[in-house]
Amino acid sequence: MSAAAADTIVLKNGRRIVASNVTEDGDRVRYETSAGSMSIPKSIVARIDRDGLRYASGSSAASEPPVTAPHVDPVRGYADIARLVIHDNAIDFGYIAQLETDARSHAPLAIEKVAAAHYATAQFLVSKGDTPSAIDHYREALSFAPDSLPLLLNLAVLYLHQSQFTTALEPLERARRMAPDSPDVAKLTGWAYYGANKMDLAVAEWHRAEKLRPDAEVERALEKAERDKAEEESYGEGETAHFDLKYNGSATPDLARGIMRVLEDDFRDLESQLNFTPPDSIGVILYTGQSFADITRAPRWVGALNDGRMRIPVQGLTAVTPELARVLKHELTHSFIGQKTHSRAPTWLQEGVAQYMEGRRSTGTAGALLNASAQGELRALASLEGSWMGLDGGDASLAYAWSLAVVESIIQTGGIGDITRLLDNIATAPDTEQALRETLHTDYGDLQQQALTYLHQQDVR
Ligand SMILES: [Zn+2]
Repeated sequence: MSAAAADTIVLKNGRRIVASNVTEDGDRVRYETSAGSMSIPKSIVARIDRDGLRYASGSSAASEPPVTAPHVDPVRGYADIARLVIHDNAIDFGYIAQLETDARSHAPLAIEKVAAAHYATAQFLVSKGDTPSAIDHYREALSFAPDSLPLLLNLAVLYLHQSQFTTALEPLERARRMAPDSPDVAKLTGWAYYGANKMDLAVAEWHRAEKLRPDAEVERALEKAERDKAEEESYGEGETAHFDLKYNGSATPDLARGIMRVLEDDFRDLESQLNFTPPDSIGVILYTGQSFADITRAPRWVGALNDGRMRIPVQGLTAVTPELARVLKHELTHSFIGQKTHSRAPTWLQEGVAQYMEGRRSTGTAGALLNASAQGELRALASLEGSWMGLDGGDASLAYAWSLAVVESIIQTGGIGDITRLLDNIATAPDTEQALRETLHTDYGDLQQQALTYLHQQDVR
């Protein structure tokens, strides 16, 4: 494939995704990466830069302010000062300088006057379209009258119009201290959070604004923010030949791409090791830690889960760590075995092979397993065929270690080919032990004895 021109998708949160073939498709933006095709909701995209050109993303509505600025009463003394500061369509800087000199006396009236003068200047500059200079004058005015609500609100509105959402929060926080029950403060703070892509906070502020003073405009903005919030809860998607990825909330597109790449490599490896290509595309869902526990309702010892789809917690990660890579290989192995055996593989074999493929070995656990065996605490494989979700943490870790040892002993005796033939037979045999007899000419009793013998060889105490 020839090198396509790279586009840059700039997200509202500042993250940049360099990709090729960026297209807009309904309410999503799709793009190609070396790991496959990905898509994200248009609502989180600020713009798409193509070959140095800037395209606004989607409809122009995306960049339109969600609400308009409220009417703000002018500062005290404004009317008298304005015509002295602004005349002949120009700013009288000499007059402002004079007022500033007067204000050094700290006389309250002189301070009020100079604040009003900067306020009038800022308003004039806004009317001329010079927002940066207007901001400077509002800040000057605030240095004289730091608690002035009109100054704080007007400054915030200018920042909001300039898409400086986080900066806008600073005057708004001060305004809230001055006027805790101001619906305007809540309305503008909601706008700032909305622009900063913090939907939860935007929704909370606009709810507050609605409670303080019903406003049709805020109501509409609130409805839209709640829709965006719901959409972003199912944040992104990715697709390759073999995988169908969904990721939510704080999982980043970069991480998602990294995961797809690792999974494709793992896929090829497992394909040759297990002599099988899963016909169905494999679902992968990335979770932040909390949502994983909420949605899967798995016991605390469960790190990741595979219930037909790979459910992987990735809280706080921005790249594929060695630990995450092991989890991915482990869960992908479950998907292979699930499809190869039509979900008939016993749990001990599933977990044994998955751990083996992720690179785990029994060297460190052999001693503990032999001890448990001597105490009669090692479970029979027949009792480890079903779900392990009812096991407590200690029983579960013993069950994992024991299953791995059994699988290692099978591979040591007959190679990985014995595992793939066993899996094939499990897909069709009436039960696991029947498949064991057909494949390995052994039963559970013999297999367990073989695994214990293997563990004695591994025990390096
Ligand atoms: Zn597992």
